[in-house]
Amino acid sequence: MTTYYVQRVDTCPVCNGAKKTKHPAWYQFETENKEGKLSFKQSYEWFIKHGWISEKNQLPPEYITCKNCDGEGEVVDYEDLYVALLEMGLKPNNASSGQRESSAKSDQSIPGASTASEGEQ
Ligand SMILES: [Zn+2]
Repeated sequence: MTTYYVQRVDTCPVCNGAKKTKHPAWYQFETENKEGKLSFKQSYEWFIKHGWISEKNQLPPEYITCKNCDGEGEVVDYEDLYVALLEMGLKPNNASSGQRESSAKSDQSIPGASTASEGEQ
């Protein structure tokens, strides 16, 4: 038995295709400081207090590569062709390739059969 797959490409649900996400430190910082009234020094101290300062005494980058899509912005997956057709609202025949062959033969045989039967009779 042969199973066919189609490639399924979806926009990354984590970064919505932006390829980057906000660093968790900055997300936490902005969540806890919604009013944005901290001075640079106070902000820096907040990052020190929460252990987000690197060994080089630098703030973490505000945005980092999205880990869910590895910075591609898309998530690639493989879906069974039968399931994919159903999701697209198409009802595939269970006899897939066999069905196609028989319908193709019948299409070809109709004119040929009618002329052959007329010729024989
Ligand atoms: Zn992503």
